[in-house]
Amino acid sequence: MFTRSAADSSPGAVVNQSAVEPRDEAVSTRVQRAALPLYVGRIKVHPKRVSGPYRGVKWLLLAVCLGVYYLLPWLRWDRGERLPDQAVMIDLDGRRAYFFFIEIWPQEVYYITGLLILAAFGLFLATALFGRLWCGYACPQTVWTDLFMAVERLIEGDRAARIRLDKESPGAAKLAKRAAKHAAWLAIAAMTGGAWVMYFGDAPTMLAALFKGEASVEAYVFVGLFTATTYLLAGWAREQLCTYMCPWPRFQAAMQDEHSLTVSYRAWRGEPRGAHKAGTSWEGRGDCVDCKQCIAACPTGIDIRDGQQLECIGCGLCIDACDEIMAKVGRPRGLVAFDTLAALAARAQGRKYRLPLVRARTALYAGLVLATMAAMGVALALRSEAELNVLRDRTPLFVTLSDGGVRNGYTLKVINKTQADRTYRLELSGLPGARMSVVGGEDAPADRPVSVGARLDSVESVRVFVTLPGERLAGESASVRFALRDVRGRQVAAHDSVFLGPRPRP
Ligand code: SF4
Ligand code: SF4
Repeated sequence: MFTRSAADSSPGAVVNQSAVEPRDEAVSTRVQRAALPLYVGRIKVHPKRVSGPYRGVKWLLLAVCLGVYYLLPWLRWDRGERLPDQAVMIDLDGRRAYFFFIEIWPQEVYYITGLLILAAFGLFLATALFGRLWCGYACPQTVWTDLFMAVERLIEGDRAARIRLDKESPGAAKLAKRAAKHAAWLAIAAMTGGAWVMYFGDAPTMLAALFKGEASVEAYVFVGLFTATTYLLAGWAREQLCTYMCPWPRFQAAMQDEHSLTVSYRAWRGEPRGAHKAGTSWEGRGDCVDCKQCIAACPTGIDIRDGQQLECIGCGLCIDACDEIMAKVGRPRGLVAFDTLAALAARAQGRKYRLPLVRARTALYAGLVLATMAAMGVALALRSEAELNVLRDRTPLFVTLSDGGVRNGYTLKVINKTQADRTYRLELSGLPGARMSVVGGEDAPADRPVSVGARLDSVESVRVFVTLPGERLAGESASVRFALRDVRGRQVAAHDSVFLGPRPRP
């Protein structure tokens, strides 16, 4: 499908198979393989500054994504005096995750799973509709690389100045620019690493502890790890991460079809390409003036005119660059545009094309997104305010009483998941004739209220005996249900268990 050109060994030099001379395909392939070295060194990409609507959207998303990441831990959320007042926080010590009004317990980790599933289906849907929109606009690698490139541009200048600087022999001016750039990159990387650990503790406390050298070893390790990875990936690896390390470009093709919008060169309009002299006719030639500004703008250094390529992250910067040229030469914009393979083929043949947004795959992905959202919404709405766990006594499994009755012992663990003190009553069902008593020095009445505080990890353990007259036990075992009711009589939690007795005599 995609072939690396023998003529150009740059990592970005990938051309569509159709662009390879088809005269003798076997010989051509052999020549290409022989010509390709095992390792191709990186050819540095120097993207030029562009302006236009796609660049504008990218700046906006960059500001939103970075703003959310850096500032979210500082947002406060009042949960009462006993709980953390940080809006979004993973409290490892308290074993809770907080997301505004939602509090997730360790045993509810399926909510996180649900969120990940939702994100995956959402990504499938966006890819089926708009191609690699995620890669070009919201992927952390793209966002931080964009930020690092903006800093680089600010310090070293635009494309031409940076290329010149690269070629310059070492000197004080070059050294100063390089040092300033790397210092700025390291500062951003350290802020990124620092912001990460703020999600795992109270942000103001964590920040003070980090500066005073009082934070945990783990916190320093994670700050260091995130600083190093941000600096290396966004500063040095850049497009190479997308091209060589990220698995997503490899399998995102499975989510796309010929109606997915991707950044495309409209060859039917652009060819035959060539330089154009102002004032001469456009008759018999295409709109592409072969200015290569689309390549100069590309952060991965590819030529979009070679067709869809693995390296293309769908950022649309080549669209802005080309539109600027089209405006200058007086041709309509949109020579490079978000388009579909089906539209390109149809227009090349002079046919009309209408984009079908609702297709089998988009309907399926949208259905999966809605179903996951509905399931998570229902799970959240029906979320219990308490939890009841039941541990059956194992030694002895049961006790036969002098009156022939059978007694089983259980330990009930009552967990109050609310942020206020609660009182509950225990209830037994499913075993007609059985009587439950709470163990409290002497057998206490079963309807003794169980109070559980609101502090973190407050669990009340209650030992109970369940006694059944011998004649009521039909077999060796029977099911039994323990339930927890709040003061209004509403059942808030339940747990099924078994009641064991002696083997019936034949
Ligand atoms: S070809 Fe265009 S859309 Fe693709 S990565 Fe380069 S600039 Fe972005
Ligand atoms: S920017 Fe537009 S006109 Fe210039 S080479 Fe690219 S496609 Fe052709």
